[in-house]
Amino acid sequence: MKRILLKLSGEALAGEKHQGFDEATVIGVAKQVKQLVDAGTQVGIVIGGGNFWRGRSSETIDRTKADQIGMLATVMNCIYVSEIFRYVGMKTAVLTPFECGSMTKLFSKDRANKYFSRDMVVFFAGGTGHPYFSTDTATVLRAIEIEAEGIYLAKAVDGVYDSDPKVNPDAKKYDEISIQEVIDKKLAVVDLTASIMCMENKMPMFVFGLNETNSIVESVNGKFSGTK
Ligand code: UDP
Repeated sequence: MKRILLKLSGEALAGEKHQGFDEATVIGVAKQVKQLVDAGTQVGIVIGGGNFWRGRSSETIDRTKADQIGMLATVMNCIYVSEIFRYVGMKTAVLTPFECGSMTKLFSKDRANKYFSRDMVVFFAGGTGHPYFSTDTATVLRAIEIEAEGIYLAKAVDGVYDSDPKVNPDAKKYDEISIQEVIDKKLAVVDLTASIMCMENKMPMFVFGLNETNSIVESVNGKFSGTK
């Protein structure tokens, strides 16, 4: 059974609005994930929180509290996307590393495995549960814990470039790049903590553009045109 971890950025859910949710975008993602699930792939999902809040952006309030708000933003995102997934016909569960009462279930590897075995899409909400971390790090951590075959990183840009393609029209896209090179060249695909964890645990990562047609399905099924 193929098991993958899909990371969606918070901004990706917001579409053109850059804030909150863009329902059409999320329904589009849900329909693609359904194709994967129907074909027998087990899909875990981590979602960022940037469409609502970023802890480090606040210059006034305490960072730990600001990060708690960020983690709760990711919980809101996961509950919303989970419900859209149900709307298109999938079974879902939302797991968090801290208690959210009856809204989510507490994360454990055994619980995640139980849900995967019931053909459910499992959302890993709330990041790592700790401030000063990111959902990039949560993505790598959960991917390693659930023994995913790889991380699929759906981004606004269609892969990893040697410079920002929005600023430099001559930016070169990599088909393949090592995490060491990503770190050395400061390409910031994922943050440094996540990069190191990924490298130490030899977790493959596939970076692709969410806006390309059917890109989630094609990337997972080997028709990959992003950066590995
Ligand atoms: N966050 C956190 N711990 C985690 C994951 C996320 O404190 O393990 C908080 C942090 O404030 C972050 C926000 O949640 O800014 C949203 O997460 P995301 O990874 O999208 O943030 P980004 O890396 O874009 O700031």
